[in-house]
Amino acid sequence: MNDILKCQKCHSYSLIKECKCGGVCVNPHPQKYSVEDKYAKYRRMCKYEGQMDNNNP
Ligand SMILES: [Zn+2]
Repeated sequence: MNDILKCQKCHSYSLIKECKCGGVCVNPHPQKYSVEDKYAKYRRMCKYEGQMDNNNP
């Protein structure tokens, strides 16, 4: 599922994390971030591995 992301630099909306302007797009409506903070490290690792799998032919 695609969340609407907002560029931190030019404040335009996008569906991808890298904006045309070179800025980073983030979710403008973060949910439960403080609760999940201690697991963020593991979630990033999982995401990274998932991307590696996707990039492998
Ligand atoms: Zn931008």
